[in-house]
Amino acid sequence: MKLKNYVVFHDGEYKKLSKVFSEKSFRSLPLWSGRISTGLLGLPNCIAGNRGTKNYQEILLASGDDGLRKLVDLGFISCPVCKPEETENFWQDVKENVGGKYGLFSLANFVDKNVLGFDVRRLNFEEILSVVDAVPGRFYLPRDLSNQEVKQFAERIESSGFAVPSLGYYDKTAEGNFFRYSV
Ligand SMILES: [Zn+2]
Repeated sequence: MKLKNYVVFHDGEYKKLSKVFSEKSFRSLPLWSGRISTGLLGLPNCIAGNRGTKNYQEILLASGDDGLRKLVDLGFISCPVCKPEETENFWQDVKENVGGKYGLFSLANFVDKNVLGFDVRRLNFEEILSVVDAVPGRFYLPRDLSNQEVKQFAERIESSGFAVPSLGYYDKTAEGNFFRYSV
């Protein structure tokens, strides 16, 4: 993995991972991984998160409690595979942010995908894309969106100054397990 282009939210600011990687203050903190194509946040060693090649434009990293809150504020929700919410103090660290953002007041509600479903449109792309300075290879949208809804999402990406990558959803019967919306 080429470190130099990964962006990490560390110590209150976005930085290049290569700049902070060797600092003791960085290495002593837990690291979280926000996956830009799905809107899920998890642990950097998650098997679901690491499926396939992961370039810097797929991931926004964040360190410590402060970084975890930042990912929640940006709209990332918990990965159902590595379950970051099972780490110590997770709810304690994010509950005010979750309450303020979604009006949800329990961890059970925050991680319940029937309450807060898979929907990458929740992310604050205006901020994320400007700091990562690239788009991921695809975006996983909910199933059954109307053309209008897909178009609105594509326009948001374009107005952030980026070309729109593949838009679709996970479908194990489709080629490459990805059903592609035509925009
Ligand atoms: Zn995960």
